Amino acid sequence: MNKDKVIIVTGGSRGIGENIVRGLATEGYKIILNYNKSEEQAKKIKQDLSEQNIQIDIFKADVTKREEVKSLIKFCIEKYGKIDVLINNAGISQIKLFTDITDDDWENMIKTNLTSCFYTTQEAVKNMISNQNGCIINISSIWGNIGASCEVHYSAAKSGLNGMTKALAKELGPSNIRVNCIAPGIIKTDMNSELSEEDIQNITEEIPLQKIGYPQSITKCVKWLIEDDYTTGQIISVNGGWSI
Ligand code: NAP
Repeated sequence: MNKDKVIIVTGGSRGIGENIVRGLATEGYKIILNYNKSEEQAKKIKQDLSEQNIQIDIFKADVTKREEVKSLIKFCIEKYGKIDVLINNAGISQIKLFTDITDDDWENMIKTNLTSCFYTTQEAVKNMISNQNGCIINISSIWGNIGASCEVHYSAAKSGLNGMTKALAKELGPSNIRVNCIAPGIIKTDMNSELSEEDIQNITEEIPLQKIGYPQSITKCVKWLIEDDYTTGQIISVNGGWSI
């Protein structure tokens, strides 16, 4: 394994992104944790890791804004001279009847979960193409594969990310850049904090492995994708068999 790899994790301040940051940093990778609103949380992760003699960078950028994304990638290239792995994890969700979704809801969902990945990836691949090396991991969702009632805008954004993954894998394969998606099922994070115990129990009964997921399972898949050399254009479901 090449632990000199430089990795950007968007939305690394909480939930799945936080777990990915902690998991990769403790293995020795060079990590830039991107956050937007959760500055205190990002600082705490940096501090916790530094107490284990592990140094990471934290960088505030709203990934829906092209100029802020440019600054994030510029910081990475100026400090490390390269970017090896981009993990597009930042995202939002919203539960609403389709007929209640406003123009703002729609726009916010698409720009946070899809357009942001266009910005980060377009800025990052310039360096990857010149290095003829790279790995992009997009975190989509089970709902991008099979659709969720009352989450039409979320499902549409994540389906778009799946499509972007497959198309980019074809375009960037000749430059030795692998592009894959991880599509989680239900993972215990703030994103699902509105679900009651009863909701969770009902969902658990629908899952063949009979349990909800934890961020650690996504991190394991991320680690495998980083070190793999022959997988590209795939949407990898990590969902306990919830969709088969
Ligand atoms: P979470 O706990 O709500 O965390 C979301 C993260 O995204 C936070 O770190 C947040 O950063 C960041 N973020 C949101 N908007 C941002 C922006 N404009 N710029 C930069 N960062 C932004 O969510 P999660 O459950 O970890 O979800 C992570 C990813 O997994 C998302 O793409 C989500 O759609 C996907 N996913 C989650 C589940 C699940 O069940 N949890 C299932 C399928 C897919 P700040 O707080 O610093 O703003």
